[in-house]
Amino acid sequence: MASIFTKIVAGEIPSYKIVEDERFFAFLDINPLAKGHTLVIPKKEIDYLFDLDDDTLAAMIIFAKRIAMAIEKTIVCKRIGVAVLGLEVPHAHIHLVPLNSEADINFANPRVKLTADEFSKLAKEISNNL
Ligand code: 5GP
Repeated sequence: MASIFTKIVAGEIPSYKIVEDERFFAFLDINPLAKGHTLVIPKKEIDYLFDLDDDTLAAMIIFAKRIAMAIEKTIVCKRIGVAVLGLEVPHAHIHLVPLNSEADINFANPRVKLTADEFSKLAKEISNNL
């Protein structure tokens, strides 16, 4: 069965997309740790990030770098934190989380609630800052 993220790439499940290319897709996490929390995924459905072939993994990090820089231009923060968990969704992904302190990337934290309008506006702003 296709993963939730494969369905997002296919447009079968809506998402607040930031950008995509032939191989990768970036969109806002629906339950963000912070405003601007973004997920970067390969379109090819592979569960574990470190099972990606070297070329794909390297290209994915470079793709994520562009997005991290755009998030930094959009959200006031000290830097963008990077995390790989994959405990919930078995489709490789990198979390990009705006940070002001170490505690901001604790996945046990309560999530930030945003309205659909706020998510849309944010995705557009990050996208415009690419
Ligand atoms: P992980 O697999 O890294 O433990 O967590 C998966 C992440 O994906 C979580 O932060 C969760 O909020 C996010 N997520 C799960 N389902 C969806 C979804 O349908 N849409 C979006 N945008 N994010 C999701």
